[in-house]
Amino acid sequence: MIFKCKNCGGNTVYSPEHEGMFCPYCESEKSHERKHDLYNITHCPDCSGELEIGEYTSALQCPYCSNYIILNERVEGEFTPKKMIPFKYSKNMVKQLMRDNFKSRVFAPTDFLSEVRLNSMTGEYVPFWLYDYDARCVYRGEGTKTRSWSSGEMHYTETSYYNIIRDMNVGYSDIPVDASIAMPDHIMDLMEPYNYDYMVDFVPEFMSGFNGQKYNMSVDTLEKRAIEKLRSSADTILRNSINGYSQVVATDRQVTPKRTDGKFCLLPVWKYIYKYKGEEYPFYINGQTGKIIGKAPVSKAKVKAYGFTLWASLTAIILMAGYIVTNF
Ligand SMILES: [Zn+2]
Ligand SMILES: [Zn+2]
Repeated sequence: MIFKCKNCGGNTVYSPEHEGMFCPYCESEKSHERKHDLYNITHCPDCSGELEIGEYTSALQCPYCSNYIILNERVEGEFTPKKMIPFKYSKNMVKQLMRDNFKSRVFAPTDFLSEVRLNSMTGEYVPFWLYDYDARCVYRGEGTKTRSWSSGEMHYTETSYYNIIRDMNVGYSDIPVDASIAMPDHIMDLMEPYNYDYMVDFVPEFMSGFNGQKYNMSVDTLEKRAIEKLRSSADTILRNSINGYSQVVATDRQVTPKRTDGKFCLLPVWKYIYKYKGEEYPFYINGQTGKIIGKAPVSKAKVKAYGFTLWASLTAIILMAGYIVTNF
């Protein structure tokens, strides 16, 4: 499907600034209508340009006419996302964020924050599974407390032993696991947290203006990552519930998670791939919170130039000092 403006026929997109559908051509709001149902296409229905569609792509921009295309068969049926978080940051807002964040990196190459380079960034709806669990967390162990005191010539130490038992049910909701092979797991973990209070029911309109993917792996395949996250959180909860002992020895520790839900959702990420001297410097920006993950490249030429400037100004100061000294 493609969303078109009823007034001017332009491609309407979701605008974070307007929090809704917007026509960038005639600047009208909510003027969109759905056109074309697109199944198994290889060419743009508007300009007939040949499209390069990835195995998991569900939304893309036509490289010839710039229209945003959503592939029906990849957002329908088993691939219908249940929920999504719409982009809160527009491309312009993210460009500003990048500039504010990296302006102090004086050694970054000159075009790193240039308009042309920053314009190459793309908004991506990354597929995620959100897992809910009821987990029974059981801990058994022995705790020791000691206290010492002196009376006259005698020194006393009293050791008390305690049976520690913790048995609790912990409810987990929305443990996120990214379902895209192309997105590095550790980057997506760093993108967190998202605020799931702002999730909305999926509507394909909101994908217009962005790239998207259907899930690459099933809810069952990815479950082990959710359980890993749950276990590490359950360990922390159990550990924090046991205080005041000088020593604790665990005899039993069991976390038994029972999955109560697994929702397919789309979460917003801006991707900026900066290429410099044959290397790629990827930046990922959380489309809801503006959190930036990525390291600015360093231009050797700039470091050198900076060294020269510093050397030159030091020399100038020394000369000046010399000049002042000779005057006295
Ligand atoms: Zn319009
Ligand atoms: Zn086209």
